[in-house]
Amino acid sequence: MNILVLNCGSSSLKYKLFEMTTYEVLAKGQADRIGLPGALFTHETPGLAPVQCETPLADHAAAVSALLTHLADARQGIPADRSDIAGVGHRVVHGGEHFRSSVVVDPAVRGLLEKTKALAPLHNPPNLMGIDVCARLMPDVPQVAVFDTAFHQTMEPRAFTYAIPYRYYAEDAVRRYGFHGTSHRYVAARTAELLAGRSGDPRIITCHLGAGSSLCAVAKGKSRDTSMGFTPLSGLVMGTRSGDLDPAVVSFLMEKERCSIAEALDILNRQSGVFGISGVSPDFRDLEQEAARGHERARLALDVFAYSAARGIASLIPAAGGLDALAFTAGIGENSPVMRLRICAYFSWLGLKLDEDKNNAGGEGDIAAGESAVRVFVVPTDEEKMIARETEAVLKK
Ligand code: AMP
Repeated sequence: MNILVLNCGSSSLKYKLFEMTTYEVLAKGQADRIGLPGALFTHETPGLAPVQCETPLADHAAAVSALLTHLADARQGIPADRSDIAGVGHRVVHGGEHFRSSVVVDPAVRGLLEKTKALAPLHNPPNLMGIDVCARLMPDVPQVAVFDTAFHQTMEPRAFTYAIPYRYYAEDAVRRYGFHGTSHRYVAARTAELLAGRSGDPRIITCHLGAGSSLCAVAKGKSRDTSMGFTPLSGLVMGTRSGDLDPAVVSFLMEKERCSIAEALDILNRQSGVFGISGVSPDFRDLEQEAARGHERARLALDVFAYSAARGIASLIPAAGGLDALAFTAGIGENSPVMRLRICAYFSWLGLKLDEDKNNAGGEGDIAAGESAVRVFVVPTDEEKMIARETEAVLKK
C-alpha cells in the first residue's frame, strides 16, 4: 500500500509518498510560492537527481496536479504500478475539540472541519484547501485528516482550562489545545516499548525540541498536559517564537512600536525566541558555534532555552504523576547532546544522570547512566511517517 502525505501551507505544499511495508519514501517534493511570481516545484526520487522547475502555479490545485504528473511519470523513477496511491494523509494543524483522532474526510467531517478554521486562521484554511483539491483531483482516493491537536484531547479540564471568564471557553472554545500531537504520540509509545515493561504504566515526558518546541506529560499512554496552548506560540522558548510571557508585554509592544496586534504577534512569532535573544540565528548549530567563540548573547539564548525546557519539564511532573522517563526528539532533541546534557543537569537532584558516551553516540536508545533514577531516551521522530501510519490505520479500520 502506498500513502501520500501532504502538508499544505498558505503558499507552499510539501509531500512524501510512502510504501507502507517498509516505510520506504518512493518520492518527495515541494512547491513554493504557489499563487505568486517565481513559483518553484521540486520533485525527488531516491537515487535520481532532483527535478526542479520554475513553473507558474496559480493555486494549490495546480501544485497538486504537478505532483500527480511527476508521480505518474515513470521516467522520474517510480514504476507506474508503484505510483498508485491508496490514500492521502493530510496534516491538519487544528482539530478543535471535536476531533480526538484521525478521520476519513466525508461530507459530514468536511462540514465540521470548516468550523476549525476560526481556531487556526493561518494554518487550517490551507490544510483544508489541500483536502478539497485532492478530493477533486483524486475522487476515488480516500482523504484522511491527521490532527496536530488530537493526541492532547485526553487532557482533563484542569489542564486545558484558561483562567479567563468561562464564557470564552463555552462560547468560543478558547482553551489549551496543544500541538505536535502526532510526534508526542509516537515518541511516547516508542519510549514505553523501549522501557520494555521496566515500569508498568510509565510516566513519560516527551520533549519535542525543534524549530518549534513542546513538551507533553504522558501517563497510561495518554496526553495529560502539554506546554503549547491555544496556539503554537505558547510554552517553551523556541527558534523564533517567544513561548510563554506576560500578556501585558503585547500591549507594551503595541504602544512602543505603535503597531497593530498582527504586527505585535509577528514580533512574538518570527523575531523572538533564541533568535530574538541572540540576534544571531534561530538555528542551534549556529548558536552553539557562536557561543563557543564567546558570543555572549548566543550563550544567553542557549541558557534561556535550556532553563525554559527544564522549567517546563518540572511543571509537567504533576500531570504525569511522577517521572519514569524523559524522551528527546526532533532537530535539537535528537541531534544536540550538549542541549540534552544541559537540560538534564537541572534534574540531578532527582537522581537523573546521563551516560556521557551514550548521550554522544547518536541514534535511538537509552542514554541514561545505569544507576539513573529516571531513564532518558532519544527517539527520532518523523512526522510525515507518523501521518502515513495514522492514515494507513484509519483506512484499515
Ligand atoms: P526540526 O523543527 O525538528 O526540523 O528542528 C530544527 C532545529 O533543529 C533547528 O533549530 C536546528 O538548528 C536544530 N538542529 C538540527 N541539527 C542540529 C544539531 N546537530 N545540533 C543542534 N541543533 C540541531
